[in-house]
Amino acid sequence: MPTFDPETEIDFLLGENPQRRLGPWREDRLLVVGNHSRLPPCCVKCNAPAGIPMQRRRFVWHPWPLYVLAPINLIAYVIAVALVRKQVEVTLGLCDRHERRRASLNAIRWLGIGAAVVMFFVAPSAIWMLYALVLLLLALAFGHWFVRPLVPVAVSEHFARFRGCDPAFLNGLPRYER
Ligand SMILES: [Zn+2]
Repeated sequence: MPTFDPETEIDFLLGENPQRRLGPWREDRLLVVGNHSRLPPCCVKCNAPAGIPMQRRRFVWHPWPLYVLAPINLIAYVIAVALVRKQVEVTLGLCDRHERRRASLNAIRWLGIGAAVVMFFVAPSAIWMLYALVLLLLALAFGHWFVRPLVPVAVSEHFARFRGCDPAFLNGLPRYER
Protein backbone atom coordinates (compact mmCIF):
# COMPACT_ATOMS: atom_id res chain seq x y z
CA MET A 1 0.00 0.00 0.00
CA PRO A 2 1.51 3.37 -0.94
CA THR A 3 2.33 5.62 1.97
CA PHE A 4 1.41 9.26 2.08
CA ASP A 5 4.15 11.71 2.92
CA PRO A 6 2.84 15.29 3.04
CA GLU A 7 6.32 16.74 2.92
CA THR A 8 7.00 15.28 -0.52
CA GLU A 9 3.45 15.59 -1.82
CA ILE A 10 2.96 19.16 -0.70
CA ASP A 11 3.48 20.85 -4.07
CA PHE A 12 0.97 18.58 -5.71
CA LEU A 13 -1.59 18.95 -2.95
CA LEU A 14 -1.49 22.63 -2.27
CA GLY A 15 -0.67 24.10 -5.64
CA GLU A 16 0.66 27.63 -5.78
CA ASN A 17 -1.24 29.25 -2.91
CA PRO A 18 1.78 30.63 -1.02
CA GLN A 19 0.04 31.03 2.32
CA ARG A 20 -1.01 27.39 2.36
CA ARG A 21 2.40 26.23 1.21
CA LEU A 22 4.62 28.40 3.40
CA GLY A 23 2.77 28.62 6.69
CA PRO A 24 3.59 29.69 9.29
CA TRP A 25 2.17 27.07 11.61
CA ARG A 26 2.83 25.91 15.15
CA GLU A 27 3.62 22.39 16.22
CA ASP A 28 3.74 22.13 20.01
CA ARG A 29 6.43 24.66 20.96
CA LEU A 30 7.95 24.77 17.48
CA LEU A 31 7.37 27.13 14.59
CA VAL A 32 6.90 25.36 11.23
CA VAL A 33 7.46 27.31 8.01
CA GLY A 34 8.19 26.79 4.35
CA ASN A 35 11.25 28.39 2.79
CA HIS A 36 10.72 32.17 2.18
CA SER A 37 7.81 32.26 4.60
CA ARG A 38 6.75 35.63 6.00
CA LEU A 39 5.74 35.68 9.66
CA PRO A 40 3.03 37.93 11.16
CA PRO A 41 4.27 41.47 12.03
CA CYS A 42 4.84 40.66 15.70
CA CYS A 43 8.04 40.13 17.64
CA VAL A 44 8.83 36.41 17.67
CA LYS A 45 10.35 36.79 21.15
CA CYS A 46 7.53 38.64 22.96
CA ASN A 47 4.62 39.07 20.51
CA ALA A 48 4.77 42.91 20.69
CA PRO A 49 4.38 44.85 17.42
CA ALA A 50 7.48 44.27 15.29
CA GLY A 51 9.73 46.99 13.89
CA ILE A 52 9.03 47.76 10.23
CA PRO A 53 10.35 46.68 7.80
CA MET A 54 10.64 43.13 9.00
CA GLN A 55 13.98 41.48 8.34
CA ARG A 56 14.54 38.61 5.98
CA ARG A 57 16.94 36.27 7.72
CA ARG A 58 18.78 33.24 6.44
CA PHE A 59 19.26 30.28 8.75
CA VAL A 60 21.71 27.49 8.17
CA TRP A 61 21.04 24.08 9.66
CA HIS A 62 22.91 20.80 9.77
CA PRO A 63 22.35 17.56 11.72
CA TRP A 64 23.41 18.12 15.35
CA PRO A 65 25.92 15.20 15.61
CA LEU A 66 28.24 17.26 13.40
CA TYR A 67 28.84 19.59 16.34
CA VAL A 68 30.95 16.85 17.89
CA LEU A 69 33.40 17.31 15.04
CA ALA A 70 34.00 21.03 15.67
CA PRO A 71 36.23 20.76 18.76
CA ILE A 72 38.09 17.79 17.25
CA ASN A 73 38.88 19.26 13.84
CA LEU A 74 37.50 22.67 12.91
CA ILE A 75 38.51 22.39 9.22
CA ALA A 76 36.81 18.98 8.86
CA TYR A 77 33.74 20.42 10.54
CA VAL A 78 33.58 23.38 8.13
CA ILE A 79 33.92 21.04 5.11
CA ALA A 80 31.28 18.62 6.44
CA VAL A 81 28.85 21.48 7.14
CA ALA A 82 29.37 22.87 3.63
CA LEU A 83 28.43 19.46 2.21
CA VAL A 84 25.29 18.70 4.21
CA ARG A 85 23.91 22.03 5.40
CA LYS A 86 20.47 23.27 4.44
CA GLN A 87 19.37 26.88 4.30
CA VAL A 88 16.02 28.46 4.91
CA GLU A 89 14.96 32.10 4.62
CA VAL A 90 12.28 33.57 6.83
CA THR A 91 11.02 37.15 7.06
CA LEU A 92 10.50 37.75 10.76
CA GLY A 93 9.82 40.60 13.13
CA LEU A 94 11.53 41.74 16.32
CA CYS A 95 10.38 44.57 18.56
CA ASP A 96 12.85 47.42 19.23
CA ARG A 97 13.91 45.90 22.55
CA HIS A 98 14.67 42.47 21.12
CA GLU A 99 16.35 43.96 18.04
CA ARG A 100 18.69 45.96 20.32
CA ARG A 101 19.36 42.83 22.35
CA ARG A 102 20.16 40.85 19.19
CA ALA A 103 22.51 43.60 17.97
CA SER A 104 24.33 43.66 21.34
CA LEU A 105 24.77 39.88 21.38
CA ASN A 106 25.97 40.03 17.78
CA ALA A 107 28.59 42.66 18.73
CA ILE A 108 29.80 40.39 21.57
CA ARG A 109 30.06 37.48 19.12
CA TRP A 110 32.22 39.50 16.68
CA LEU A 111 34.37 40.89 19.49
CA GLY A 112 35.06 37.31 20.55
CA ILE A 113 35.89 36.22 17.01
CA GLY A 114 38.15 39.26 16.48
CA ALA A 115 39.91 38.72 19.80
CA ALA A 116 40.47 35.03 18.95
CA VAL A 117 42.00 35.86 15.55
CA VAL A 118 44.31 38.53 17.00
CA MET A 119 45.29 36.21 19.85
CA PHE A 120 46.10 33.42 17.40
CA PHE A 121 48.50 35.55 15.37
CA VAL A 122 50.28 37.22 18.29
CA ALA A 123 50.38 34.06 20.41
CA PRO A 124 53.81 33.70 22.05
CA SER A 125 53.50 29.90 22.26
CA ALA A 126 51.48 26.94 20.99
CA ILE A 127 49.34 26.82 24.13
CA TRP A 128 48.16 30.39 23.49
CA MET A 129 47.25 29.41 19.93
CA LEU A 130 45.16 26.62 21.43
CA TYR A 131 43.48 29.11 23.80
CA ALA A 132 42.73 31.29 20.74
CA LEU A 133 41.06 28.36 18.96
CA VAL A 134 38.99 27.59 22.07
CA LEU A 135 37.92 31.25 22.23
CA LEU A 136 37.01 31.12 18.54
CA LEU A 137 34.88 28.00 19.09
CA LEU A 138 33.17 29.61 22.08
CA ALA A 139 32.40 32.77 20.08
CA LEU A 140 31.00 30.72 17.18
CA ALA A 141 28.91 28.59 19.53
CA PHE A 142 27.66 31.73 21.30
CA GLY A 143 26.57 33.17 17.95
CA HIS A 144 24.99 29.92 16.94
CA TRP A 145 22.87 29.48 20.05
CA PHE A 146 22.25 32.97 21.44
CA VAL A 147 22.46 35.57 18.65
CA ARG A 148 20.01 34.05 16.19
CA PRO A 149 16.45 35.06 17.14
CA LEU A 150 15.22 31.57 16.22
CA VAL A 151 17.14 28.31 16.17
CA PRO A 152 16.36 25.81 13.40
CA VAL A 153 15.93 22.32 14.88
CA ALA A 154 15.11 20.50 11.64
CA VAL A 155 15.09 21.53 7.99
CA SER A 156 13.65 19.18 5.40
CA GLU A 157 13.03 19.58 1.69
CA HIS A 158 9.91 21.68 2.19
CA PHE A 159 9.67 22.72 5.82
CA ALA A 160 11.80 24.09 8.60
CA ARG A 161 11.09 23.81 12.29
CA PHE A 162 12.38 26.44 14.71
CA ARG A 163 12.49 26.74 18.45
CA GLY A 164 12.78 29.99 20.36
CA CYS A 165 9.38 31.56 19.58
CA ASP A 166 7.36 33.22 22.31
CA PRO A 167 4.37 30.96 23.26
CA ALA A 168 1.91 33.86 22.75
CA PHE A 169 3.28 34.34 19.23
CA LEU A 170 2.88 30.63 18.51
CA ASN A 171 -0.66 30.60 19.89
CA GLY A 172 -1.70 33.04 17.17
CA LEU A 173 -0.73 30.58 14.45
CA PRO A 174 -2.73 27.66 13.07
CA ARG A 175 -1.66 24.21 14.17
CA TYR A 176 0.44 22.28 11.69
CA GLU A 177 -1.44 19.16 10.64
CA ARG A 178 0.53 16.36 9.12
ZN1 LIG B 1 10.14 41.58 21.53
